[in-house]
Amino acid sequence: MNKTEKQQLKEEILRKKQEKSIYIIAHYYQRSEVQEIADFVGDSYAMALAARDSESEIILVAGVDFMAETAAILCPDKIILSPEPAATCPMANSISAEHIRTYRELHPDTLVVTYVNTPAEVKAVSDVCVTSSNAEKIISRLPEDKKIYFVPDQNLARNIARGLDREITAYDSACPIHAVVTKDEIIKLKAEHPEALVLVHPECDPEVVQLADYAGSTAGILNKVVKSDEKIFIIGTESGIFHAIQKQCPEKQLILASKELICPNMKSITLSKIKYSIDDLETPITVPGNIARQAAVALEKMIELASEK
Ligand code: SF4
Repeated sequence: MNKTEKQQLKEEILRKKQEKSIYIIAHYYQRSEVQEIADFVGDSYAMALAARDSESEIILVAGVDFMAETAAILCPDKIILSPEPAATCPMANSISAEHIRTYRELHPDTLVVTYVNTPAEVKAVSDVCVTSSNAEKIISRLPEDKKIYFVPDQNLARNIARGLDREITAYDSACPIHAVVTKDEIIKLKAEHPEALVLVHPECDPEVVQLADYAGSTAGILNKVVKSDEKIFIIGTESGIFHAIQKQCPEKQLILASKELICPNMKSITLSKIKYSIDDLETPITVPGNIARQAAVALEKMIELASEK
């Protein structure tokens, strides 16, 4: 698609979404052109709140499947559309509700803390959900006499446990995209750019996080660059964040910590798919009532604990 065609498609989407009062929320890992036509761009936590707080009755979620499911759980009276229902998250799919039920039977004194990057069925059997932007705060508010089982991202679990000095048992899975960032790569890039700040996502390996100047959610990384007086940054998260950062700070130099920090599932959402989704109101995402109700309890608990002062 050439530049003119892309621009025409964008204009058509903007016009039609206004006509149909469709609110588009997109994740920071989306393609630049998708972020540009969105009403709201944010990380998983901010997307969940944006869906819940939107006045529109139809919400299109430009993100992977668990993000659309989360919106459907938090907004049972709204129509939630996914422009690409096959866009999924391999880490989210690595864990099952059955595994958690079995774990609970064997460890009844344990709280199950579930990363929002999971299917609705898994959230439904969890005590509380977390995102990378609120996990540390939420876990620090859980009773200290309870053991914590964190699923499914072991890197996030290990990074939080170190920050909180609290023992956390983690499920054995990780984001295949953030896992590509290596300690050696960071050391090499740091040697090439000694003045650069290293900012990474806590889904990266703890060895990588230990070398970083800052580890935090995608929104946290964005804010750090925007507020910093430094000029060069080595970024250890998915490449889509560059668009949002450069929009606010075009003068800053960003270096991706690995060329492979590109999530194919996030990038599978295109303008053409969004246009089709708006035209035909496809594909509506629903979560079965009993699962949605139970998952909503874990999600609302997250929102409640994350909002506490
Ligand atoms: S970046 Fe990682 S955690 Fe996020 S959707 Fe892609 S595979 Fe899943």
